[in-house]
Amino acid sequence: MKKIRVTVWNEYLHEVQFEEIHKVYPEGIHGCIANFLKKAGMEVKTATLRQPEHGLTEDVLNHTDVLIWWGHMAQDEVDDAVVERVYKRIVMEGMGLIVLHSAHNSKIFHKLMGTETVWLKWREDGEKEVMWVVDPSHPIAAGLPEKIVLPNEEMYGEHFMIPQPDEQVFLSWFEGGEVFRSGCCWHRGLGKVFYLRCGHEAFPTYRIPVVQQIIINAVHWAAPIDFPKVNYAFPQEIPTIPFKKQENFASVSGLHDKKK
Ligand code: ZN
Repeated sequence: MKKIRVTVWNEYLHEVQFEEIHKVYPEGIHGCIANFLKKAGMEVKTATLRQPEHGLTEDVLNHTDVLIWWGHMAQDEVDDAVVERVYKRIVMEGMGLIVLHSAHNSKIFHKLMGTETVWLKWREDGEKEVMWVVDPSHPIAAGLPEKIVLPNEEMYGEHFMIPQPDEQVFLSWFEGGEVFRSGCCWHRGLGKVFYLRCGHEAFPTYRIPVVQQIIINAVHWAAPIDFPKVNYAFPQEIPTIPFKKQENFASVSGLHDKKK
C-alpha cells in the first residue's frame, strides 16, 4: 500500500527561545510528531516558519497528502501567499489538514472556517483535562479508550468561535468546570480538516501514546481518497444524447386517467 505523505509544520520558536520548552521538546514539536508518524509507517517531512517560504513550497505541498500545523506566537508572520497556496491545495486538491492546539488562531484555520476562530476561554494552569470520545463510531476514535485523561494541560473553554463541526469526535472537561469541543472535523471543498485541542508547548502531551494514536488516526482520516481529478466549469466533452421519438409511448397515453 502507498505510504501516506505527511508534512509536519511547526512555528518552532518556543522550543528555541525558552529553555523550559526546549527541555520538553528538544527535537521540536514537529520532530516529536514526525518521529511517531514515521514509526506508524508514514512518509514524513517537517517544515518550519523561518525556512524560505516557511518550508511550504509548491513542490513540498504537491507531495503532501496531509499537513499538520502547530503555531502560536508568530501566526501573523505566516505569509499570506503561502496561506493561499495551502488553502488551494486543501480545497481544490484534497490535501488533509490537522490543526493542533493554539493553531486555532492560525491564518489557514481562520480562512477555512470563516469565523473568528481566535475566540475561546483559556487558562494556563497545568490542570487536568478529560477528553471524552463522543462519537465511538468515528475512524479517529479507533482503538481509543472511552475517556482520555491528560494530567497537565492548558485549559480552553467554550465558547469556541468555530462553525458547527461536520463531525464531533471529542469533548473535553477541565477542573474549572469548563468544557470544550476538543476534536472537530470539517469538509472543505475536496479536503478534510481536523482540529485537535491538546498540545500546549509546556507539557509533553504529544509524547503520550494515546494522543499519538489520535494523530495517527486523524492522518488516515484526513488523507485524500482515491478519486479522479474533478473537472469544474464547462465540461470538456459535450455528450450528444441521441433523441429518438419513442413511438410506443402513444399506447401509454391515458395511463393516469381514472380507471373505470
Ligand atoms: Zn497553549
